[in-house]
Amino acid sequence: MIPNGTLTLSADPAGIALAADLLRQGLLVAIPTETVYGLGGDARNGEAVANIYAAKGRPSFNPLIAHVASTEAARRFVTWSDNAEALAAAFWPGPLTLVLPLRPDHGISSLVTAGLETLAVRVPAHPAARALLSEFDGPVAAPSANPSGQISPTTAAHVLSGLNGRIAAVLDDGPCGVGLESTIVGLSGEPALLRPGGVALEQIEAVLGTQLHHHLPGDALSAPGQLQSHYAPDAPVRLDASTAQGDEVLLGFGPVDCDLNLSAKGDLSEAAANLFAALHSLNDTGRPIAVTPIPDHGLGAAINDRLRRAAAPRNS
Ligand code: AMP
Ligand code: MG
Repeated sequence: MIPNGTLTLSADPAGIALAADLLRQGLLVAIPTETVYGLGGDARNGEAVANIYAAKGRPSFNPLIAHVASTEAARRFVTWSDNAEALAAAFWPGPLTLVLPLRPDHGISSLVTAGLETLAVRVPAHPAARALLSEFDGPVAAPSANPSGQISPTTAAHVLSGLNGRIAAVLDDGPCGVGLESTIVGLSGEPALLRPGGVALEQIEAVLGTQLHHHLPGDALSAPGQLQSHYAPDAPVRLDASTAQGDEVLLGFGPVDCDLNLSAKGDLSEAAANLFAALHSLNDTGRPIAVTPIPDHGLGAAINDRLRRAAAPRNS
């Protein structure tokens, strides 16, 4: 909990400077966008991103959109392309999200991408969001600023009714247009529509001069976070292990003897921030993976959800 409750900041230069400062400290700030209020945290700071999930009480890790101030800022994190340039020139700032391959030196927390090699990135049009992103000068991960399963907030009062005391501040700039969500276009392969939203498909196709493939809900490729074993390491994963057996490498939590520890001090935010990097590096050993028990409360529920998917029977 935030000891003195959540601050309400006005969207003037002083409020925006303070909001940027809170983000720099790894704290969470709800920000108005042209769709709904987003729950923002520094996308490079794994614990800040873990705390987004904790504040929302989200029971699983799905990839988040990184919000940036400009096309130039987006290019620091993803591999740019002619299609990306054309769509950014036509629709940014605005309700269009582009999914592009991460650059090698991206610095984005793997909790933002949920371990994928791609990043969803957007330059929002809302003036207060733009001012904050410019002042902060970094990428801000921001899902909707409501407790998981509740209605998305379109006023600062809605944000506070769900998250008061769980986030550092809300930047209040009045009601958001109850707009559509951003359209999500995948550009890491053939251009594909991943989610319809505020920019019409026809407009996007006109700019690209080609039809988009459709990867909508229900398709295997639409929502990578939903797939049972999408993030499964190559090797088998065994949960609730007390020790490694045979050739296994042991992933631990808390004060246990293991090969790699998600958080030796037993901190679930730290463990969440380390999760995807840990799975990748253990996978690189080529050995089967055993995992010691992780408490199933708070962020532990989302960590266990992801580990269960990793351990689930494989699709192929
Ligand atoms: P929002 O609900 O507006 O916060 O947007 C999150 C959506 O972006 C989720 O449906 C994600 O599945 C999607 N998303 C984020 N990152 C990626 C990615 N790297 N690849 C595909 N979809 C993504
Ligand atoms: Mg939501």
